[in-house]
Amino acid sequence: MAKKIERCSFCGRGSDEVKLLITGLNGAICEECAEQAYSIVQESLNSDKKASKSSGFNWHHLPKPTEIKAYLDQYVIGQDDAKRYLSVAVYNHYKRIGQKVEDDGVEIEKSNVIMVGPTGTGKTLMARTIANLLKVPFTIVDATVFTEAGYVGEDVESILSRLLQVADFNVESTQRGIVFIDEIDKIARKTDNPSITRDVSGEGVQQGLLKLLEGAVVNVPPKGGRKHPDQDYVHVDTRNILFICGGAFDGIERKIAQRLNTHVVGYNSVQNVARIDRGNLMQYIQPQDLKSFGLIPEIIGRLPVLTYLNPLDRQALRDILTEPKNSLIRQQQKLFGMDGIELTFDEDALEYIVDKAVEFKLGARGLRSIVESIMIGPQFEMPTSGTKSFTVTRDFAKQQVEKASFAA
Ligand code: ADP
Repeated sequence: MAKKIERCSFCGRGSDEVKLLITGLNGAICEECAEQAYSIVQESLNSDKKASKSSGFNWHHLPKPTEIKAYLDQYVIGQDDAKRYLSVAVYNHYKRIGQKVEDDGVEIEKSNVIMVGPTGTGKTLMARTIANLLKVPFTIVDATVFTEAGYVGEDVESILSRLLQVADFNVESTQRGIVFIDEIDKIARKTDNPSITRDVSGEGVQQGLLKLLEGAVVNVPPKGGRKHPDQDYVHVDTRNILFICGGAFDGIERKIAQRLNTHVVGYNSVQNVARIDRGNLMQYIQPQDLKSFGLIPEIIGRLPVLTYLNPLDRQALRDILTEPKNSLIRQQQKLFGMDGIELTFDEDALEYIVDKAVEFKLGARGLRSIVESIMIGPQFEMPTSGTKSFTVTRDFAKQQVEKASFAA
């Protein structure tokens, strides 16, 4: 009896016409059809992935303000007020994205944030941590690089080019991103009076930022840099981009003090003056103080959530070394752990690092460079020395820091 020819259930070719025929319970498939089927499956899975990446942001899955704060607590020490303000602002912002305006005619307005506080106290860290939690594109820009259109420097639109790049040029996810604008205080107008002459770096830039902050469709040069007539633009709608601005606003306490002094005249003034905590005037910051500092009222109006950060005291600096999930000491321990070395720090070595950071007056920013200068020697030698454990003592830390500062 002749051998029965089996056929591919897809193309119908017989087993004598194909190289390979895979048989199943009720059918068979040849190698060519199997390959085609594989590419169809891949294509369809990829487009599903893309669709779920770009399709709407589901605000029902958004963490609640207390959850956002709890997440921030894992990475950022102290700054409770700022964390609460930011958690609520972010939550409302994403609720706003999910709103259906036609329902009842109530439209939730945008809640961009401005954070005021000394350098190195956690403004950028907080914005970055929130972006990580929400898994949205995030970029940091420095307000000082911008100039008014037509002058040398970057156009404000380049902010969006960067966000677009971070979002892999996916316009939809760019439009839900978070932008942190640092050093917003540096584009303040120099006096409280509107300028009569052109103010290239200050007021003009503030004007340029206005439309981004409020929400507009902006032509963005995808590669950044200055606009060029021949370039193709990507249209990005900034309505749902959350802008968080930060600045040290050096000397703003004086403006706050002036306001408090003039306002507490009259009824109950004596008690009010007594209740003011002169050691931390920043907590009383109000939008009008930003105006006295030189931000134009339109900008202030578009940054409705105003909050402040406290200077970091010794205890905060000490906690920053070890407490955050991603703390400097844990990072060092991980680095050494990868070489099989157990790294520990004596408490008085940590205290010494804090002393130095206080001396350098760089906030938490100083901690990193101090730790790095202590660890550079061990990082260089230990991976090849066969050491299994190493303890950083105060004497060792001191020796290394002094060596580094003499070398500098
Ligand atoms: P700025 O307030 O100037 O934006 P950053 O957020 O960039 O300061 O802080 C610089 C670094 O200092 C951060 O990367 C972080 O390691 C550390 N840091 C600053 N403040 C805190 C804080 N409150 N909690 C934990 N780490 C902090």
